[in-house]
Amino acid sequence: MAKKGRRKGRHIPQRTCVGCREVNAKGDLLRLVRTPKGVQPDASGKLDGRGAYVHANQDCLGRAMKGPLNGALQMVLSAADREGLEAYMRDLPAEKARASNSEGAG
Ligand SMILES: [Zn+2]
Repeated sequence: MAKKGRRKGRHIPQRTCVGCREVNAKGDLLRLVRTPKGVQPDASGKLDGRGAYVHANQDCLGRAMKGPLNGALQMVLSAADREGLEAYMRDLPAEKARASNSEGAG
């Protein structure tokens, strides 16, 4: 029988990217928050409101904006929300950075 090797120590919260559905540590994903002013990227993680997580790249954010983000935030993105996110997206890398050192993957 194999040992389970359950590690003690800090628990790392995991979140699912709404673009590609991959599960990552919360800190590796960009949080998008539905605020009274519209949907905003929340780099600080401190904004109140319903949030969704996505990889900070054009591919995942673009996919999320095509539908899954609406469901995750329980709303329909407005034109202004889309413009804001598209502007934000321009500064992001096109694709997910390849993890050359995928420690603990599985
Ligand atoms: Zn993703």
